[in-house]
Amino acid sequence: MKVIYTDNNATTMVAPEVLEEMLPYFSQYYGNPSSMHSFGGSVAKKIQEARQRVADLIGASPGEIVFTSCGTESDSTAIHAAIESYPGKRHIVTSRVEHPAIKNLYETLEKRGYRVTFVPVDGQGRLDLDYLYDSLDEDTAIVSLMWANNETGVIFPIEEISRTVKESGIVFHTDAVQVAGKIPIDITHTGVDMLSLSGHKFHAPKGIGVLYIRKGTRFSPFMIGGHQEKSRRGGTENTAAIIGLGKAAQLAKEHLDEGAYERVGRLRDKLENALLKRVSHTMVNGDRQHRVSNTTSIAFEYVEGEAILLMLNEFGICASSGSACTSGSLEPSHVLRAMGVPFTAAHGSIRFSLSRYNTEDEVDFIIEKVPPVIETLREMSPFWKDAGAAARLEARV
Ligand code: PLP
Repeated sequence: MKVIYTDNNATTMVAPEVLEEMLPYFSQYYGNPSSMHSFGGSVAKKIQEARQRVADLIGASPGEIVFTSCGTESDSTAIHAAIESYPGKRHIVTSRVEHPAIKNLYETLEKRGYRVTFVPVDGQGRLDLDYLYDSLDEDTAIVSLMWANNETGVIFPIEEISRTVKESGIVFHTDAVQVAGKIPIDITHTGVDMLSLSGHKFHAPKGIGVLYIRKGTRFSPFMIGGHQEKSRRGGTENTAAIIGLGKAAQLAKEHLDEGAYERVGRLRDKLENALLKRVSHTMVNGDRQHRVSNTTSIAFEYVEGEAILLMLNEFGICASSGSACTSGSLEPSHVLRAMGVPFTAAHGSIRFSLSRYNTEDEVDFIIEKVPPVIETLREMSPFWKDAGAAARLEARV
């Protein structure tokens, strides 16, 4: 069965050009880039090329790029750096809709006595900017906000927010994991001090990330060890993955410049509009005007997201659900709940996230398969037949 992969916000395929560029660095050029000999030195040179390519993707200079193991490590390092660099400050500002990679860190810090402001969003997933600015005070060590939401694709106005926050002299970090390669980024025109990327979200392998650290930003390493990455991140470099990430960054920039994500956006819109038209009681979660072009989160009311996913899986369609249904709990996603999406819609929300590798035929196939799946499930749903049951459940959550 052919796999129709529309779960690219979870992870992406390694681009063939990326794999090709990586392969020699496993068995042929396996030297340690820190070694004195030229065998290692040639790897160090290739890592520098990768650093330059990543810098070019976001308008940074190569010295501001630090390689890490993943987006989660980059996020943790940024927060750690700010609170270590400003030990007298005990306040962190973030949003209610961050990825668990960073949300769980804030919750842990809260337990350790930090004051964390979780800025709310409106029904469209847009950040309450007045609430954000009002929350800043002398005690604020860092403002950390995602650039785009992984579930809805909604983009926060990071350029504007970061510039305003910088005027208060507060460190600004953004989790840009879901925007890399999807929107143009020029870090010089922002007030961003630190920015996280993750390779596996833009066709590089898993296990490689980036932390951009603006020159002059106070920094304290999270991984203390050798002198790699100018002592900003100890540990022997994951050379092949770094080289792959560099290639992926170069390709991402080229595709972005050539309008690949506008084409992806047209496919996404075709999928979204067709499903809204063909399936009743269906809505899009999030601000449709300000989203990354590859993502749609569609709420099919009165059905369970997990059941939809299982049935789509039978056709080879890979998507993901808007609920974190853990150990039998009916807990819908914190993002959709923060937006006030009703339980019956949040629980039936499905995220399709496309990439430049998706085709029109694949989108047509999804459009053909989804409506009968929803119809079948609604026939079985107690909520579809009994609105009272849905209201009782809503009241319970
Ligand atoms: N931040 C966001 C917005 C994400 O979507 C993800 C992964 O889904 C992460 C951080 C974590 O990245 P990684 O899987 O590289 O740790």
